[in-house]
Amino acid sequence: MLPSPTFPPGVVPQQPSTRLAVTNLSATYVEGGEVLQALSDISFGIDDGQFVALIGPSGSGKSTLLDIVSGLFAESEGDVRLGNVRYATADRLGQSAYMRQRDLLLPWRTALDNAALALEVHGMPRRLARRTAAARFPEFGLAGFENAYPAQLSGGMRQRIAFLRSVLTERPLLLLDEPFGALDALTRVALQTWLLNLWERERQAVLLVTHDVDEAIFLADRVIVLSARPGRILHTEPIALPRPRTRSMVASDAFLRHRSHLLDALGLLRPPDPVPGDRR
Ligand code: ADP
Ligand code: MG
Repeated sequence: MLPSPTFPPGVVPQQPSTRLAVTNLSATYVEGGEVLQALSDISFGIDDGQFVALIGPSGSGKSTLLDIVSGLFAESEGDVRLGNVRYATADRLGQSAYMRQRDLLLPWRTALDNAALALEVHGMPRRLARRTAAARFPEFGLAGFENAYPAQLSGGMRQRIAFLRSVLTERPLLLLDEPFGALDALTRVALQTWLLNLWERERQAVLLVTHDVDEAIFLADRVIVLSARPGRILHTEPIALPRPRTRSMVASDAFLRHRSHLLDALGLLRPPDPVPGDRR
């Protein structure tokens, strides 16, 4: 008989393809003696190769959730598993590629040195980190801009550098917090398509935070809707659009159905509250 597999204490084996599993997770901030609950009883999973989007009103705890998964902030209850293993908060650090909401480039470093930064932080020698980053510049539409400084580049290019910096660490889970949030509509749509093409080739598990319902539907396999604070899961929408996705799908019946489900879950289809003093 084969010996049964052994697992470290606290580890319960699950489906082998689960990349991220969050169970009954809650989070609180304590500020000036006041306890503020940011997330309440969140449970969901992401399999390898799956793209999941998270939407919710401002302050619903989306960034907090990504901070927790990445190991930057500790949950107050519940647990987080990466690749079926339960890790303490600090042990999750560096296990996923995380592009934070305001992932600023260092203004005194060139595009190439900014992109190479995460590899250097992970201990790669500087020259090798620069060579590794430079090899991906054409694919990110950045060829020829290696020596430019952030102030000399467009917003879309700066986002692609920040994105390249996260992707270079080659982690199996990618956490993206509103990566296109600060961009104009045209740049945003172009970068969504570009991200989708890149992802079709690499197929990491992705958790993308966005406040844009159409972006969530266009990109994701599944969209999770959070409530206002404390963030709870109100709705999960599996997206029935085939892959590879094309821009023309945004006009399809399936797309519009998903949009109306999501707007409804966000409470945006109900009539607005009457404006005070507006009653006749
Ligand atoms: P979202 O990303 O969905 O806009 P956040 O995760 O940034 O929401 O914040 C969730 C809630 O927690 C908000 O009410 C926010 O003000 C609060 N919060 C976030 N970070 C901190 C912090 N460091 N200290 C205290 N409260 C915080
Ligand atoms: Mg946020």
